[in-house]
Formats: sequence, structure tokens, C-alpha cells
Amino acid sequence: MELIHETEVVCPHCGETFPLQVDTSQREQTLIEDCSVCCRPIVLTIHCRPGEIESVSERAG
Ligand SMILES: [Zn+2]
Repeated sequence: MELIHETEVVCPHCGETFPLQVDTSQREQTLIEDCSVCCRPIVLTIHCRPGEIESVSERAG
């Protein structure tokens, strides 16, 4: 099973989208990623099942 999935994140700062690789073997994870466009931090809360992304929420870090 492919556990790494790619999703699109919408930056809460600048509104741009960029791709993010998610490890779906973790059921719930909170990540801080810097926007690839404006470089500001984004707090991501991601819920997964193995092999599937259930939800991604973004907020300004
Ligand atoms: Zn941004």
C-alpha cells in the first residue's frame, strides 16, 4: 500500500495552494509547514487512514 499521499494545502496567509506530501500511516498529526510561496508558517492538522487522507485543516501559525 502506498502510504505517502500528496494533497494540496491552501495557505491562510496568502491564499496560494501548494502540494504537500502526507504520511497516511499516522492517524492524526499536527505539522508546521512554511508556505512555499510566502514562507510564513502554517499549522496543519491532518487526519488519515492508512493509504487515505480524511481531512486537512490549515490555520495561520
Ligand atoms: Zn503563503
